[in-house]
Amino acid sequence: MQIKNIQIHEDKDKKYVTADFIYKTRTKKTVTISVQKKYGHFLSKSASIFLPVGVVLASSLGEELDVEDLVSRKQLLAAPIANKLMMSWELGLHEVKVNANSIVEKPVRSKLRGIGSFFSGGVDSFYSLLKESNQKEITHLVFVRGFDILGKDDQLFLQAKKNAEAVARELNKELIVVETNIRDLTDPIFSWSWIHGAALAMVGLSLQDGLEKIYVPASDFGTHPVPWGSHPDLDPLWSTESTSISYDGGDMDRVQKIGFISHFSVALKYLRVCYKNVVGKYNCGACDKCVRTMVDLAIAGVLGSANTFPKKLDLAAVKKLPGKSYSENIYLTQSLEELRKKANNKYLEEALIQALGNEEASGFTARTRAFIAGLDSKYNKGKLYRFLARKAILK
Ligand SMILES: [Zn+2]
Repeated sequence: MQIKNIQIHEDKDKKYVTADFIYKTRTKKTVTISVQKKYGHFLSKSASIFLPVGVVLASSLGEELDVEDLVSRKQLLAAPIANKLMMSWELGLHEVKVNANSIVEKPVRSKLRGIGSFFSGGVDSFYSLLKESNQKEITHLVFVRGFDILGKDDQLFLQAKKNAEAVARELNKELIVVETNIRDLTDPIFSWSWIHGAALAMVGLSLQDGLEKIYVPASDFGTHPVPWGSHPDLDPLWSTESTSISYDGGDMDRVQKIGFISHFSVALKYLRVCYKNVVGKYNCGACDKCVRTMVDLAIAGVLGSANTFPKKLDLAAVKKLPGKSYSENIYLTQSLEELRKKANNKYLEEALIQALGNEEASGFTARTRAFIAGLDSKYNKGKLYRFLARKAILK
């Protein structure tokens, strides 16, 4: 695989950085990252932006990686460590030989750079933004179209962007809106679950002339990091001399994060956890993720004032949550412990206990399991599945 022809251009609204990815088969795909004109001067023309995604894709395809332009020396030295870490997760990845020359990168604007945090409007984003040490430090929120909100979801994108703008305004932060087509490149080759960390690094590094550090809010597993595309041991390895990638928020579990953000009206006004994209609904209020978020908001005593969710918790829906699946089991057990500590709601307690007895039927773990089973049969003869099962990550 080659990465070449890195270009910067602009039109009347946006500034773009692009790079061509060329596979051994000679198929060429162009990755585009754009930012609104106001932050055009943040955009960097560096091959280091594209190296993380290139390493993961080349590793997946079993190809060498040739990079035409200079990349960050720090990043190039860390790339084999990142590659080996992901290989240790038994995803069927190969060792990648990266052919590139490196430099110690210096930002074009060395002074007055800001500190960014990725912001989707979810629990992890709000926690990383609102905790005291970060709130003072963070100057810019980075809102991305093309990760979870794909290009075609206009209505959801506009609503989520409007709310991200409102959050930025209330907290006196700048909002950078980045759009990218990266999934057009990655989805046909490798699961988003495993490459999204490299894609987050790509977007963060594309802004390296304007940001000296960017926080990646920890994934749902919080204090239980498992092999995943964004991981505390992996994300920092994509840093350059110029911009560091900082995995943040693994110090609290989801129920604790919700308890923390429940003290902030801005979170209660704009929290978004759902990707169901039900027309006219910011959160559907009915999927597993919405329901368990509502459970935690109820435990924190703020469900009635959480504007973006139904006011009343449907206990029948709580009882149906697939409490025996790995992730649901962690969340619901934590919720139950928190409920017993904080409140006296025996109906919710009974509903949670009933849910914890449910076999997994759908939702995140089922999807992960189906994905891993497919991947496993393709590459591994069941090794990864057995590894995750051994670690009690999947049952
Ligand atoms: Zn939902």
